[in-house]
Parts: sequence; C-alpha cells; structure tokens
Amino acid sequence: MLDNNLCIYNSMSRVKEFFRPLHDGKVGMYVCGPTVYGDGHLGHARPAITFDVLFRYLTHLGYKVRYVRNVTDVGHLEHDADEGEDKIAKKARLEQLEPMEVVQYYLTRYHHAMERLNVLPPSIEPHASGHIIEQIEYIKKILDSGYAYVSEGSVYFDVPKFNKEHGYGKLSGRNIDELLSATRELDGQSEKRNPADFALWKKAAPEHIMHWPSPWSEGFPGWHLECSTMGEKYLGTQFDIHGGGMDLKFPHHECEIAQSVAHNGCPSVRYWMHNNMITINGKKMGKSLGNFITLDEFFTGSHPLLEQAYSPMTIRFFILQAHYRGTVDFSNEALKGAETALARLLEGWNRIKELKASDSSSIDVADLRRRCYEAMDDDLNTPIVIATLFDACRVINRVNDGAATATAADIEALNDLMKTFAGDILGIRAEDAEGADALKPYQEAVDLLLEIRRQAKQNKDWTTSDRIRDRLAAIGFSVKDTKDGGWEWSLK
Ligand code: ZN
Repeated sequence: MLDNNLCIYNSMSRVKEFFRPLHDGKVGMYVCGPTVYGDGHLGHARPAITFDVLFRYLTHLGYKVRYVRNVTDVGHLEHDADEGEDKIAKKARLEQLEPMEVVQYYLTRYHHAMERLNVLPPSIEPHASGHIIEQIEYIKKILDSGYAYVSEGSVYFDVPKFNKEHGYGKLSGRNIDELLSATRELDGQSEKRNPADFALWKKAAPEHIMHWPSPWSEGFPGWHLECSTMGEKYLGTQFDIHGGGMDLKFPHHECEIAQSVAHNGCPSVRYWMHNNMITINGKKMGKSLGNFITLDEFFTGSHPLLEQAYSPMTIRFFILQAHYRGTVDFSNEALKGAETALARLLEGWNRIKELKASDSSSIDVADLRRRCYEAMDDDLNTPIVIATLFDACRVINRVNDGAATATAADIEALNDLMKTFAGDILGIRAEDAEGADALKPYQEAVDLLLEIRRQAKQNKDWTTSDRIRDRLAAIGFSVKDTKDGGWEWSLK
C-alpha cells in the first residue's frame, strides 16, 4: 500500500499491519504542539488526547515510540496575522515581561491541564527557540538546492518552482492556481516573488522583540520550519507518523512536506494523521464569539456558557466517544450525557471485584477483547472500543445478577480487559475520587486551625485568633464566621 516513496496517508487504518513489517519495533511520532498563545483551551485538548491514545496504543502493542511534540515559542507574525502583532511579544510588551516569561507562563498552564486530562508527556518537547542554529542550517541547505531565495533580509520558499518539479498541495488536495488567488495579503508580501511563497526566515521589524542573528538578517525563523527541523533532528530524515489538527493540513503541513523534499530529496513523513475540530453549540470556537472556554473553566464550571463544572475525565471521555476524524460538538446536554455514561462505565469496572466465581462459564471475554483490538486497529475507532466496554459492563451486571456465570479466570480477564482498554489505552481513570481523598488531610488541618481559633476567641485571646485568621488569609484562604459560632472557609 506504499505509494512509491511518497507516502501520504490521511488515516491510520490497520495500525498493526502497517507497522509490524516496516519496523524494528521502533516508531517515530511527531505532533505539532500548541502555540503557547493559549493557556490550555478546549481546542488544545483534542489533538493532545487523540495522539495520547495513539502513543498509548502503540506502546501497548510493544513498540518503542519516540514521541516528539514541539513548543512554538519564537513569535511568528504570520501565525496571528489577524491581530497584527505576535501575542507573545504583545503580552511581553504590555506587561513588561521577558518574552520567555510569557512562554513559560502559558506552557506551565498547558502542562497542568494536560496532566489533569491524563495526557502522558511526550518523549521530547523541543522549543523552537532552542533550535535556531539547526533552523539556519536547514535554510542554508534549501537555498543551496535552489528552492529558496533571499529578499530584503528575509528568505522565502519558492513555491511555484517546487510545484513544477514535485507538486505542491498533495496532502490537502489543493491546486496551486487556487492557492495563488486565495492567498491573502501578508506583511512583507511585496518582498516575495509569488504570493504563495512562504517565509523560511523573516527579517525582524524594529519593534519585534524576539530575534536572532543569521546570515541574512537579525530576525526569526518561519513557523513551518521548526517542525521540519526538529522532526528531522530527533526522528531522522524519514519517520513514521506526523499528527496535528486538521486546520494544520494547509498550509502548515503542506509547507513541511515541501521543505523536507527540498532539503532531503524525499518527504520525511510516512503517515499523516489529522484530528477533526471542535465546535461549541454548533459554532466554531473563537474569542469574538464569546465561546472561547479554557480547560480550567470547564473543570470549575466558571464560564457563563457552562451549567456546571465538568471533570477532566468527562472531557476526555466525551472526546473519545467520537472518532478522531469526526467533529465533536460541545454542549451542556452532551457533556452531562458523557458524565453519566462515564460513571456507568466506572461503576461496571468497579463491580468486577464483587463478582462471585463459578465452576462453569457462560460468558466470552476473549471475544470482547478481540473486538476492542479490532476497533483500535481500524483507524483508532475509540467509539467502538467504548461501546464494547459497555457490552462488557452488561456482562458484568448479568454475572452479578446471577443471569450468567463466570469462572475465576473470566473475572480476572474482565478486569484485565477494563484495565487495558479503559485504563491503559483510553487513559480513563477514576481520578476525582482519588483527588478528593488526597485533599482530605489538608481540609482537616484547616478545620483544626479554625477550631483552635474559636477556642482562642472564647478565651478572649485575640492575638492568637487574629494571627490564625491573618495567616490563613495570607496563604489564600478566606474564612467567614457563621451565626451559629461555626465557620466557612474557601480557597480564594
Ligand atoms: Zn508543526
């Protein structure tokens, strides 16, 4: 099924068959990471969860996966052309911060949200800003091969020339004529020979605060370049999987293909994989639409569009209930449905330990397991895996009710099925209960302090009572005395 060395696939059907014969048990996987312009919003959750499941599944099958997810942190003007100024630079300027402080702030928030969603960290998380030298070397080679030109201190990729010799637009199915008419006016467009040409290096305008020296100018690399450069550095000139959101197919991934062909003479990626997008109440997510909801707002329910808080696992489960190539529409009704369904799944899983073993068996756990593998191998069909796990829950309930019988080995196999597919592969965990348990001792410690404060007040020991109140306030607790002599506290 390999297409004469130009292996562009838009799906991962038959995962196992594709990988087994090709590899020595090693898989290289590159996923375009978030631009650090957002602080962990819903749009970040979907690619992260989709490729987390692929990472988990390939690892489960026994592959040694090197998973690279980049951090876009060099501040590209083109990437946010609508606002006219790069967001890192803008925030740094307005708040008088070092740009890397802005990057770190967003990245920490992103990592925290990913941890709560049970998304495993990638093997390598390279920063574009840490690979400027490699990017400059990469550009030099493309210039040498004749597919780029220097103009006014910037370097552009020559799209018409590349198109003539190799074809441009194969991944997204676009043709260049359409491209030429559809390309909008960009900053510095007059420097280009053709509007479809894209920047490999951009000379920094005087107000641009993130820039580096290069043979062409003091400037910064083009956005598409970091992925080609860092993908090659960590995964080699040819690697297996490159993923990202569907919105990255064009132009980002198309440009990556052109760059790697111009650089190495062959495309670097064997399989392209794109997750579909997320909508909220049927609408695209956007700041101007007022439906731009951060993950933290989902977890706390603090956005006006949300009727309640939704746990990280509800969000994860909801995303996995849809196939990654289909759209997902978030609404309160759909999320509440996912919350109930997830609770049922966890309930079934939990019930396994109450099952009584019989000498005979009337259930077929091996068949359930086979169906789960089949679904995963068929282009990561997580909705079918989830449906099969619900079938397993029905089996568990029937055994529990005495309508079916299971041997000790069956019960062990049911538990292993849930642990493997719900836990290890889909990454579902009953974290909320664990989270509450972990907080309990701290809650008790605060109540103990407040109990001591009440006694101090009764003894008119105002020094002690004020000290406890003030110290708690300084840490971030707000304490309210109630009429009945008790108290209420919350973390601000
Ligand atoms: Zn990328």
